[in-house]
Amino acid sequence: MVSVAEGLAGAVKGRVVERGDSGYDEARALYNAMIDKRPAAIAYCADDQDVAAAIGFARERALRIAVRSGGHNGAGLGSVDDGLVIDLSAMNEISVDAEAKMARVQGGALLKDLVGATYEQGLTVPVGIIGTTGVGGLTLGGGVGHLTRALGLTIDNLVAATVVLADGSIVQTDAEREPDLFWAIRGGGGNFGIVTSFSFRCHPIGPVLAGPVFYDMDDTADVLRWYRDFLPGLPDEVSGFFAFLTVPPAPPFPEELHMRKVCGVVWTQSGEEESPALREARAFGRPLMDGVAPVPLPAWNTAFDGLYPPGEQWYWRGEFVKEIPDAAVEKHATYGAALPTWKSTMHMYPTDGAAARVASDDTAWAYRDAVWAQVIVGVDPDPANAGAIRDWARNYSDALKPHTLGTGYVNFQQEEGTDDKVRAMYGSNYGRLAKIKAAYDPENVFSVNQNIKPAA
Ligand SMILES: Cc1cc2nc3c(=O)[nH]c(=O)nc-3n(C[C@H](O)[C@H](O)[C@H](O)COP(=O)(O)OP(=O)(O)OC[C@H]3O[C@@H](n4cnc5c(N)ncnc54)[C@H](O)[C@@H]3O)c2cc1C
Repeated sequence: MVSVAEGLAGAVKGRVVERGDSGYDEARALYNAMIDKRPAAIAYCADDQDVAAAIGFARERALRIAVRSGGHNGAGLGSVDDGLVIDLSAMNEISVDAEAKMARVQGGALLKDLVGATYEQGLTVPVGIIGTTGVGGLTLGGGVGHLTRALGLTIDNLVAATVVLADGSIVQTDAEREPDLFWAIRGGGGNFGIVTSFSFRCHPIGPVLAGPVFYDMDDTADVLRWYRDFLPGLPDEVSGFFAFLTVPPAPPFPEELHMRKVCGVVWTQSGEEESPALREARAFGRPLMDGVAPVPLPAWNTAFDGLYPPGEQWYWRGEFVKEIPDAAVEKHATYGAALPTWKSTMHMYPTDGAAARVASDDTAWAYRDAVWAQVIVGVDPDPANAGAIRDWARNYSDALKPHTLGTGYVNFQQEEGTDDKVRAMYGSNYGRLAKIKAAYDPENVFSVNQNIKPAA
C-alpha cells in the first residue's frame, strides 16, 4: 500500500501516526465513540511552523484537513475520513500574567488546564462545565458555562489570537489587526484558520457556591414554570441550569437517591457568601437534595469529568430558547421522564446576563436575545443503545422545535449541518461570515466544521 502520508514525518517536528501504524486506533479515537473515522494520518504538531507545514502538505496532496484540539466535538469534526488530522494536543502551554489579568493559551489546551492555571493566580476565564473539553473548539464556537451570566461567553473575553491561515501564513489578530478575522473567529468555528494561541482577559475569582438541587420528576411542571420566571430576574453572579438527569450511583449522592430520575437546577454563584437571590432559589419547592456548597472553581469545573469519560456513545441536539411556554413545559415533562439511559440528560444553560449585553453583530454569535442554549444528549457506554439514545434525543428536540428559535448553538450539534442549517445557526451574521470566509479561505481548505461556504 502506498502511504498517502509519506514525507509528512519529515515536514513536521511532532509525531506522525499513519493508518497501519501501531497506535493508529488510539490516535484516531474521538471522545464520542458513536463517530468512527479513519484518517490517512494524524500529525501532532509542535508549533506554529508545524501547523503551517501540515496545511501545506495536505493541500499539495489534496487531502482534506481536520483540526483537533480536545476532540470533544459531538459530530466528530476533529477528524476526517482519508484526510489529515492536525492535532494540537501537544501545544497546550498556558501563561498567566496576573498583573495584566491576561492568559495566553495555546490552541490544544484543555479547559481544566486553563481553569487550573488561572485559579492559582486568583483569576478565571469563563468556559464550559467539563474539564476535558478543548479550549480550541469551545472558544471558536462561543463557549457557554457556569459563569456565562456573570462574565459573558468565552469569546466575550477573547482579546487576541494567533491564526495559521490556509496559505500557511501566521497572523496576529485582535480588534485592530485583521479585525474581520477577529470578529469571525468569535463564534464562527474553525472556518477561517487554525488558532494556535488565544489571549483571554481574566477576572478575579475565589471559591464559588455551587451544586445541584434535585426535585422529584413528578414536580417537573412546577419547578420548570418557577425556574423560567425566576432565572431571568437574578443578578448576574447567580446562574443555574435546569436539568433532567439520573442521580449517579456514587457519593456524594445519598444512596436512597442513586439511579433515581430527577429534575433539578445546578446552581453556581461567584463568591462564597450566599446572596439573597440564591437563598430564595434554594428555598423553592420540596427538594429531594440540596448539594449547594462552597467549592474551589477547578474542582467544580471537573466535577462531571469522572461521570463522562471519553469513549462513550453520544447523540446531541441543541436549540436556542427565549421563552418556555406551558406547552413546552408539558413536553419537557414527558421526555424528561423518559430519559433512555442513566447518563442521558437535558441541560438548559442560561445565556442572558453579561452575555446578552453584547450586541448580536459584535461577534459572530448572533443569538444574544436567547435566554438559554439548550442541549439534549443521549449518552451510554454501550453501542447497543445507540439507536435508543438517538431516537429519544431527536424526538424530544423535534417536539420542542416550535418553542425554540428554530436553531441552536453550533457546538451542541451532532450532525454536520447542511448549508441551510449552518446559515440558520449564524442567522443575521451569516452573510458577513461568508464574505470573510471568501477573503481568508476562498478554497474552503477548512471545511471539516459546521461549514460556512465562501461567498461568491
Ligand atoms: C462532555 C462535553 C461537555 C461539553 N460542555 C460544554 C459546555 O459546557 N459549554 C460549551 O460551550 N460547550 C460544551 N461542549 C461542546 C464543545 O464546546 C464542543 O464539542 C467543541 O467542539 C469541543 O471543542 P474541542 O476542541 O474539544 O473539539 P474538537 O473535536 O477537537 O474540535 C471541534 C471543532 O473545532 C475546530 N477546532 C478545534 N480547535 C481548533 C483550533 N485551535 N483552531 C481551529 N479550529 C479548531 C475543529 O476543526 C472542529 O471543527 C461539551 C462537549 C462535551 C463532549
